[in-house]
Amino acid sequence: MSRLANNPELLALDALIDRAGAHVMCDVVTHVDADGHRLPVWCLSLGNRSPSVPAVGFFGGVHGVERIGSQVLIAYLSHLVERLSWDATLHEQLRRIRLVFMPIVNPGGFLKGTRANPAGVDLMRHADIDAEVEAPWPLGGQRLSPALPWYRGPAGGVLQPEAEALYRVVRQRLFSHRVAISIDCHSGFGFRDRLWFPYAGRKTPLAHLAEIWSLRDLFQRTYPNHSFYLMEPQCLSYTTHGDLWDFLYEEAREQGHPPFLPLTLEMGSWLWMKKNPRQLLDPLGLFNPLLPHRHERVLRRHMTLFDFLQQAAVSWERWQPVGARRAAAQEAAMSAWFSPTS
Ligand SMILES: [Zn+2]
Repeated sequence: MSRLANNPELLALDALIDRAGAHVMCDVVTHVDADGHRLPVWCLSLGNRSPSVPAVGFFGGVHGVERIGSQVLIAYLSHLVERLSWDATLHEQLRRIRLVFMPIVNPGGFLKGTRANPAGVDLMRHADIDAEVEAPWPLGGQRLSPALPWYRGPAGGVLQPEAEALYRVVRQRLFSHRVAISIDCHSGFGFRDRLWFPYAGRKTPLAHLAEIWSLRDLFQRTYPNHSFYLMEPQCLSYTTHGDLWDFLYEEAREQGHPPFLPLTLEMGSWLWMKKNPRQLLDPLGLFNPLLPHRHERVLRRHMTLFDFLQQAAVSWERWQPVGARRAAAQEAAMSAWFSPTS
């Protein structure tokens, strides 16, 4: 147990589950073995399970070194659990939405202190989908060796248990609802907090480009002092093979599911290093804020966005672009993200 004690996120999630109470459904969706431990992968669900309401999914800890993503979700869940004990408005909201959380998708990576899972596979390069444009090697995903970073796993190999569990959760608990939004929390790239959307593996617009643009517009109008997010298709930063969200988005679209908008929050960790260069001396400093005041600031920084995504999902029909508004949103998004100069 001594090594588990060194993993504050695994312990914090256990403690949260202990006090979650009857309004939170806590399931182990798979187990992974790492360093002699059999670790649960947890999914926590709140709210109305009826397909007639929308759903929002929160994912974190896909990469074992990006602990801040899980910490942000555990802090947010903790906030919700506390409010469940007194806040009638939250109970009212949960009658109109389902919330699904997988705060630590890759607990084996957390235990071992690795980006990859215990088999050496980078889960965010692992989906069965190749980039349609050239992806930088090895960053974009490689099949040479699990000893190198960004290993995709063997071609045609079995799906890793963490990815299989994530697919199952998304298919059963998000695709089943009349509209679904997801956000997957990462860190380790750039000076700004980016909100990426598909595709990572191709440079063409997704079918819901107008909806994504309208969501961005809604957020900017509603929260004009939260301009620190940069929303863009992931391919504008870099392209990769095997992106889980590209794969799931395509599946939802091909199978005719209701709208599914998957977002990735890529927290701009280079800013934390710029402000505190000593972080470079700590292996986790590349991905996580280490100074206490900055850490606390990051934990509260995204709560407004998480609340907003729920409000937007519940109120989908009130802002979903249709007709001429949809055409205008499409045109604006094409010009911002897919013109030759963008
Ligand atoms: Zn990541």
